Amino acid sequence: MKRRDFVRTLGSAGGIAGLGGAAGVLQATAAARPRPLAARESGYGPLIDDEFRLVVLHTNDTHSRMDPFPMDGGRFAGLGGAARRATAIRRVRAENEHVLLLDSGDIFQGTPYFNFFGGEIEFRAMTAMGYDVATLGNHDFDNGVDGLVEMLPEAGFEFVSANYDVSESALEGQVRPHTVREFDGVRVGIFGLGIAFEKLVLASLHEGVRYTDPIAAARTACEELRAQGCSLVICLSHLGYEYRASDRPSDLTLAEAVPEIDLILGGHTHTFLDEAVVFGQGQTGFTVVNQVGWGGMRLGRVDVTFDVARQASGWAAAGYDIDDRLDA
Ligand SMILES: [Zn+2]
Repeated sequence: MKRRDFVRTLGSAGGIAGLGGAAGVLQATAAARPRPLAARESGYGPLIDDEFRLVVLHTNDTHSRMDPFPMDGGRFAGLGGAARRATAIRRVRAENEHVLLLDSGDIFQGTPYFNFFGGEIEFRAMTAMGYDVATLGNHDFDNGVDGLVEMLPEAGFEFVSANYDVSESALEGQVRPHTVREFDGVRVGIFGLGIAFEKLVLASLHEGVRYTDPIAAARTACEELRAQGCSLVICLSHLGYEYRASDRPSDLTLAEAVPEIDLILGGHTHTFLDEAVVFGQGQTGFTVVNQVGWGGMRLGRVDVTFDVARQASGWAAAGYDIDDRLDA
């Protein structure tokens, strides 16, 4: 763990927890000018003022929370809400040309929206928000493989999982190990990792889908994506942030084991990271790990800058609270 540093993110300057009013989202965005620390330190080429920037927005474990949490006096009362999330995303898009919107799984389960409509509402809302890619969480199997397959036509975005072998299941051809998005010549590779089914998903619900070692799958995915010319590799992980048992795959063990990943956007453990964690390593000089709690209460943001040679050269992380300040 020596190489793991907790780096102050721009969230602390703009305030992940303290965005000042609805307009605060925009102010925080404006303040979120990425600092190419890694670039300067690792000796990448000169950066120019209008350096290329990709904004990566991400969620995890939204768990069918279409509406804000009810005003029941509970800890999360009034927080979240898909409409507010859509507003935040729209504002970021209005200010940035290159935006990628990702989800790290467990879209399903948690409210009557799922019980009644089986995921249709969640997928349609995410499609309307312009999600690009998601991975599968354990709860996305709650209606079985067939229940998931039935809903996929509603998802106008892709699913990736590199360590779930779906070749013997109805998901064959619908969930790929990885995908590539291109922004003005910058190629970004995105792959997914899912958690072991044992004790989480009944065998009958993941019929034909086989869990394989996530570390090995990650290494293969990185190789394939770099071979396809990707200068940034993002992992959508539903492994969980950290476990006491050090041999259990997690986002932190993954970051140490596979330095070729640049961003690990996590899920499953519902971890609210107030600051992203970074490891200095790999081709880009960084592996950033982030996770934004659950229930759609936060929208995560990692900005990646690219130098004149279109190599990823720096990063900055921030996050937005999704609350009633976005109602205005
Ligand atoms: Zn999960």
